[in-house]
Amino acid sequence: MSDEQTGGKGLMTDAAIRISGLRKTYRGGKGQPEKQALKGIDLTIPRGSVFGLLGPNGAGKSTLINILAGLVVKSAGSVTIWGFDQDRNPRQSRAAIGVMPQELNLDPFFTPRGALEVQAGLYGVPKAERRSDEILELVGLSDKAEAYARTLSGGMRRRLLLAKALVHHPKILVLDEPTAGVDIELRQMLWTNVRKLNEQGMTIILTTHYLEEAQEMCDEIAIINHGEKIAQDSTANLLSRMDSRTMVIVPDGPVVDLPASDGVDAALRDDGNLVLQYRSAQTSAEQVLESVRTANIRIRDVRTEEADLEDVFLALTSGRADDVPPGDQDQPHRGMHRVKL
Ligand code: ADP
Ligand code: MG
Repeated sequence: MSDEQTGGKGLMTDAAIRISGLRKTYRGGKGQPEKQALKGIDLTIPRGSVFGLLGPNGAGKSTLINILAGLVVKSAGSVTIWGFDQDRNPRQSRAAIGVMPQELNLDPFFTPRGALEVQAGLYGVPKAERRSDEILELVGLSDKAEAYARTLSGGMRRRLLLAKALVHHPKILVLDEPTAGVDIELRQMLWTNVRKLNEQGMTIILTTHYLEEAQEMCDEIAIINHGEKIAQDSTANLLSRMDSRTMVIVPDGPVVDLPASDGVDAALRDDGNLVLQYRSAQTSAEQVLESVRTANIRIRDVRTEEADLEDVFLALTSGRADDVPPGDQDQPHRGMHRVKL
């Protein structure tokens, strides 16, 4: 027995989620090739965090979430939820997590209160511990408690899905693209509740392809693309990458000495241009130019480039960000919001 399962209880010091070598291959249908949706993901999600799983459509986010939820069977690897191995302790691992799925899959013949009671029954929540009314209040569905699900708007169904994810008081709440296509009011309700639940100690995992949202909500972010994890870092570190600026100088004549100045990273490119990297919070463009003049380099032309999370994302997902032709730089990419500092 591993430490993680000492006494059948997860250790308080353990991660919320520990995923190792996770693979999923969907079998192809008639004439369809099989699809490797997850290609060996390792991921540790700390307890108490608001964790963002970021990636473009088709990256494998829902597949990963649905494996956590027990809705999709993994092909290989291990998943530990709140210290409980999903295969060895399926009941405990399932009890630790509540998932608000991306799909609006609700039984049209249940009312919100009825749906919550059934869900509570499925999770074995004793009658005395059920808090349907409190949860309906939380998600703003009190006045619809007795309405049939089929009469609820898309937004109300989404609220009900969140309510269902909460009935068994999970340690971890997972939201799969909670704000894709929802109105501002619902988005605010979601974020208010996510913050409130997190302050009460719940670990939150959300997937999104909106960078702004991840930036605003998450302490830590993992980026996945084509079924592989390509980055994981604190949001602060990702933001500090965005703080990086690049100045490209076309020198008037050959460069003998590289500028040497604190906070300026200088390199000479094959094309003879001088590339200077610096952080805008620490170094001004004027200081960078001064370091160039001090190195006796005459400037024929100069331009600056700034990175944003989207550039970081693009650099990681589709080659280098500076491969984008200059004219395309301000075009929105793949429907994601521009995030400018
Ligand atoms: P995301 O949520 O990041 O958009 P998904 O996990 O939904 O990505 O999908 C990852 C890949 O797996 C996609 O190429 C998708 O077409 C494929 N996929 C998802 N579900 C199935 C399925 N049930 N059968 C076959 N392929 C699937
Ligand atoms: Mg998805």
